[in-house]
Amino acid sequence: MQENNMLETDAPVKPGKGAVCGLTSEQAAERAARSGKNELAAQKKARPLRIFLGQFRDIMVIILIIAAAVSVFLGEITDALTVLIIVLLDALLGFFQEYRTEKTLFALQKMTASSARVWRDGHLCTIPSEDVVPDDIISVSAGDKVPADAFLISARSLLADESILTGESAAVGKSPGYNFDSDNRIGRDDYIYGGTLIVRGSGEARVAAIGKDTQVGRISGMLSDITDEETPLQKRLAELGRVIAVICIVICAAVSAAGIIRGEPVFDMLMTGITIAIAAIPEGLPAAVTIALALAVRRMLKRKALVRRLRSVETLGCTSVICTDKTGTITENRMTVTEIFADGRSYSVSGTGSRMSGEWSCDGIKQSAGGSMVLDLMAEDMVLCSNADIYPDTDPQRAGEWVMSGDPTESALLAAAAKYGADIALTRQKNPRRDEVPFESETRRMSVVCEHNGALTGYTKGAYDSVSGMCRYMMHDGKKLPFTESDKKVLSAECDRMSAAGLRVLAFAVRQDGEKDMIFLGLCGMTDPPRPEARKAVSLCRQAHIRTVMITGDHKNTAAAAARSAGIYHSGDIIVDGEELAAMSDEELSAKLGSISVYARVTPSDKLRIVRMFKKSGSIVTMTGDGVNDAPAVREADIGVAMGLTGTDVTRLAADMVLLDDNFATLVSAVEQGRGIYANIRKFVRYLLSCNIGEVLTMFLGIVMGMPMVLLPPQILLVNLVTDGLPAVALGAEPVDPDCMKAPPRRPDESFFSGGLASMIIFRGIMIGLCTLGCFSVIIGAGYGLTAARTAALVTLVMSQLIHVFECKSEKKSIFTIPVFGNPKLVGAVLISLAVLVLAVYFPPLQGIFSTVALGERELAVSLGFAAAAPLIRAFALMFTEK
Ligand code: ATP
Repeated sequence: MQENNMLETDAPVKPGKGAVCGLTSEQAAERAARSGKNELAAQKKARPLRIFLGQFRDIMVIILIIAAAVSVFLGEITDALTVLIIVLLDALLGFFQEYRTEKTLFALQKMTASSARVWRDGHLCTIPSEDVVPDDIISVSAGDKVPADAFLISARSLLADESILTGESAAVGKSPGYNFDSDNRIGRDDYIYGGTLIVRGSGEARVAAIGKDTQVGRISGMLSDITDEETPLQKRLAELGRVIAVICIVICAAVSAAGIIRGEPVFDMLMTGITIAIAAIPEGLPAAVTIALALAVRRMLKRKALVRRLRSVETLGCTSVICTDKTGTITENRMTVTEIFADGRSYSVSGTGSRMSGEWSCDGIKQSAGGSMVLDLMAEDMVLCSNADIYPDTDPQRAGEWVMSGDPTESALLAAAAKYGADIALTRQKNPRRDEVPFESETRRMSVVCEHNGALTGYTKGAYDSVSGMCRYMMHDGKKLPFTESDKKVLSAECDRMSAAGLRVLAFAVRQDGEKDMIFLGLCGMTDPPRPEARKAVSLCRQAHIRTVMITGDHKNTAAAAARSAGIYHSGDIIVDGEELAAMSDEELSAKLGSISVYARVTPSDKLRIVRMFKKSGSIVTMTGDGVNDAPAVREADIGVAMGLTGTDVTRLAADMVLLDDNFATLVSAVEQGRGIYANIRKFVRYLLSCNIGEVLTMFLGIVMGMPMVLLPPQILLVNLVTDGLPAVALGAEPVDPDCMKAPPRRPDESFFSGGLASMIIFRGIMIGLCTLGCFSVIIGAGYGLTAARTAALVTLVMSQLIHVFECKSEKKSIFTIPVFGNPKLVGAVLISLAVLVLAVYFPPLQGIFSTVALGERELAVSLGFAAAAPLIRAFALMFTEK
């Protein structure tokens, strides 16, 4: 263990070995102006031109453009122009949607950037990694992603995973160097490198290179955190799209051939065939799914759930078990020490949270520094065996409050020590740290060695069972006496009492210079208020047939109290702790899986075992994690969830989703969104496919039945433009139906078209086709002429679809019981489509282009009557099934 204090920096350095206070804000600002942001390559941006040109890559669009060119060649200029304008409009629509989607995804990428802990103005602050400047003194500990290349000035058991740079998966040991130099070549053991992960220990380092000058900056312009590979649903729908495309092409070829055989002009029939194919092939389906997913991701972000993998939005909706942490997720992680037990006496600690006021007292008598040896030592332990920092808030609005940074358990201990009268900065300055064994969830304790006047003292704090096992002595009235069984009995009972009241209990011990054995000092209990919203979220899960299970490193009693207050634990449930779990065989565990609602005192490897058992039982598991060792369990879960506030970078990188507020209720609302978005995707797939079937049938049956061409190519393109684009996307943006949390989760292997969706689509497609043909025949039969009949058929076809889009809002309700105007976007989209239709029929210049005539009242009534027929029939049929 070495320290290096030879900082050749103009940053102020406090006296005392290793007590570095870093840059001042002014120095940092001046360096930032000189060296810019600590970013890798320039942020990826959505590229508009590429997206726009991408719209023309579609083979159907290319064929259409060729067809337009041929029309020009044959002198059909108006036809060609119409086709081109519509293709362009379609491309523009696609472009705007895709551009917005990409922008959302890139913005998300930026959000996943991590933060760094740096010493500024003498305090340890947490800042965005991009604001780190050269010469900053950074502090890193297990679980952190290193923000920049930095020279180590102190290190305690530091191990770094540098596989990102070297490909070597074994972690490398690091030790501090002596003389700072800015040579950040790979492979130095006195350097930590930006982008690598600290897997053990802690240390301080002086930043040598940032951004593009770091080793990782040199090898990359990439390293995006968000993966946007196709989701399973996108893949399945793309496949479906391809099958439909083949069927359509066959139908179109048949339509064209039939027409040609019947003697229609060859060119006209080819154009018709191609345009039907364009109208009928749902080539936009996968893109529409991406848009819908991206919108969902944005909505989730507003609710503080950051999705890192698009595919997880789909899986979220299938979640059947949520395994949640306790601290910070079910509780607020705003710890306050309320009790101390030492020397056989209980002391109460007043004051709450980050408020500075409060005192230690026993039987109404205030206790303060210097009053009792054991209390003095405990306060010293609280201050020295801690990597957190607290300092008075300078914001006048928050006068009398601490700014707390670091682990909330440790900052609560600092606040408690301050209430006892300890001077945190002075104590630390007088007792510089010489070694540290960091806190790990496996050992449940942390130890440091500090030097005072040449003597070394060891301070330990941690879970009672963990600390008591190391002690041979106990402090009684300032004397070191043997730690007896009866002492342990008393302490154990105290622990049980405090934890049963929901307190987190920590034990303290010291080892004096030259001694081998530790002396037990006492206990402290801290409260952590339950999150009020957690209870509601747990009951929502119950209603949605999702099991909530608590998995925590905390004591059984503390966990039980929190689980009970959140409604996770019910009488009859089983609570197991790590030891009992270890004693269970996989078979036993699997048999009890359904009744265990709390796992206490577990280690990260237990978490992994629990996830695997749940998966084996066929459940879809969502698992939260924060510690560095939680990453394997988070990765193994179907949805791995990391904590945004308290979580480590390592876990965040392994997770599918990050809860920015660590809140259980946020997780549940993300599940709700996951279910809702799946329902929305079903809605617009239902809409698009039934409309496409309707369009193809209209043309195909028309020709087969020997009718004249029901719709001309520009008319079909118009239908495609006004019905497929905006209304479908607006359906994807429907607000999530709260009823979606009343049913059991869907099975991941469930067919997308389950629940009668396929027959609903086919039936409606046939109805739309027949009604359009019906309208066409009636108008022809009434002697109105072909142009009027085509116009009326056009109106029927478009209107049936614009009415159907509202029906698609629900699979069970009829159009009369659905809140039709509930989604303003949908109403807006339909109004725009309607306006285009009205213009195409009644606006003379467009009449020329689309070969339409203004319809009189009667024709219009017939058209609208046919358009309303199918919805009316459905509404009538549903009257008998709806409650
Ligand atoms: P949860 O899983 O619900 O978030 P937890 O995982 O926070 O709970 P751990 O952080 O693993 O639980 O803590 C387990 C035990 O370790 C605690 O009950 C406490 O006794 C002890 N402990 C927690 N934090 C520290 C710390 N900073 N230093 C020493 N001991 C600690």
